[in-house]
Amino acid sequence: MEPIHIIGGGLAGSEAAWQIAEAGVPVVLHEMRPQRGTDAHKTQSLAELVCSNSFRSDDSLSNAVGQLHWEMRRLNSLIMAKGDAHQVPAGGALAVDRDGFAEGVTAALEAHPLVTIDRAEIAGLPPAEWDKVIIATGPLTSPSLAQGIQSLTGETELAFFDAIAPIVHFDSVDMDQAWFQSRYDKAGPGGTGADYINCPLDRDQYEAFIDALLAAEKTEFKEWEGTPYFDGCLPIEVMAERGRETLRWGPMKPVGLTNKHNPTVKAYAVVQLRQDNALGTLFNMTGFQTKLKYGEQAAIFRMIPGLQNAEFARLGGIHRNTYLNSPKLLDERLRLKADPRLRFAGQITGCEGYVESAAIGLLAGRMAAAERLGNELDLPPATTALGALVNHITGGHIVTIDEGPRSFQPMNINFGLFPHIEGQATHGPDGKKLKGPAKSVARKHALTARAKVEMDAWAGGAAVQA
Ligand code: FAD
Repeated sequence: MEPIHIIGGGLAGSEAAWQIAEAGVPVVLHEMRPQRGTDAHKTQSLAELVCSNSFRSDDSLSNAVGQLHWEMRRLNSLIMAKGDAHQVPAGGALAVDRDGFAEGVTAALEAHPLVTIDRAEIAGLPPAEWDKVIIATGPLTSPSLAQGIQSLTGETELAFFDAIAPIVHFDSVDMDQAWFQSRYDKAGPGGTGADYINCPLDRDQYEAFIDALLAAEKTEFKEWEGTPYFDGCLPIEVMAERGRETLRWGPMKPVGLTNKHNPTVKAYAVVQLRQDNALGTLFNMTGFQTKLKYGEQAAIFRMIPGLQNAEFARLGGIHRNTYLNSPKLLDERLRLKADPRLRFAGQITGCEGYVESAAIGLLAGRMAAAERLGNELDLPPATTALGALVNHITGGHIVTIDEGPRSFQPMNINFGLFPHIEGQATHGPDGKKLKGPAKSVARKHALTARAKVEMDAWAGGAAVQA
């Protein structure tokens, strides 16, 4: 049987190799380290953790990444098995001894009879004779391969930095203060004229907000990242440093809007939020990319009327990150539409984090192995964490207005990516309507309970290959 080739032996590539080999299909894993390094990796181990040693919460009842852990364990994940084997104490989180973990992954793959490890950079597009390839080269993909990918995707479809605005859970926005309206009620393609959530600030609130931005601690760029300010993607704190009024002429301009709750008073500034996923559960703060430290962001953004209780699905950031405009470029099985022999996995697809990258590696590996065996893997249900994540990457994302190459941004798994459960999570066992934190906990429990049932069914049926 011809092998499947995987480029990149990080979190995604290692998991994909394991899944393929365990399905009985030979695999060659090409990893450029130590022949060629990256600016973040320090060892030659496969699946090296480049920064924190945490896989985040292991709570599979009320945490979305904990649910993803549960699903990956259910699917014979190598990354989770070695994470569990090398766990160190970290409260409710799964943290690992980083060297023991990476060496454990490396040893398991080296020992597998169907895995060949080739320590070499794949510079440029993979050879034409490789009929099935998984590209899992991560946020620091080597430049020659990135150029090769760009030659297939077009220059603007492969980003080298993410410039991420914070994303808020819709149900945490106070709509008694905010309102839906597009500027000048304009309905763009697919829009209604009321596509944005608007949060109004009066003069005092605006001045206090600017003071807080200027005083807040910022994250520095790493030396090798440079200062990638491009395409009008200036961080809001840099705009504020250029002048106290700059934001009022930029992302916070108050024109073309009428406060539905207070039509006679003109807002001094307005923060707009735009729908971020098809479910309508997540909204991003338009133009609010930022390098503020995470600890500062929530407190400062909760100064904005309407966002005083905001819960953030992700905070803002700007990092070196090579990733595709996946909803446009990839089919639902993670293959490049322009060249379907190439499948992508890991952070380069637009997921974020060790666990999510490994999860997409797991899925890509199973998909490729099933194809090699003459089958087609059913997609995981969108109600599972794995299904919700792949849906975000390949098509769940919606942009009704202002669509552009940068509109797709990487994301961690979070409950905003799961479809609603109508009715169930809104009432307690006594039939009374749930409110506040109790409502949120009940909703999360219902989502993870449903995900487990559906993952069990998928894992027991369609997910089994051979
Ligand atoms: P990687 O794990 O990066 O693996 C890609 C592999 O491909 C590497 O081993 C690389 O050497 C290899 N490679 C690249 N190009 C080629 C080529 N042409 N030929 C052969 N091999 C190649 N995530 C977290 O969850 N927590 C954190 O604290 C965290 N901190 C981060 C800090 C930094 C500075 C960076 C850059 C990322 C951080 N991330 C963090 C994100 C995390 O690194 C990724 O989510 C995860 O490692 C992605 O997995 P991956 O398999 O897609 O890529």
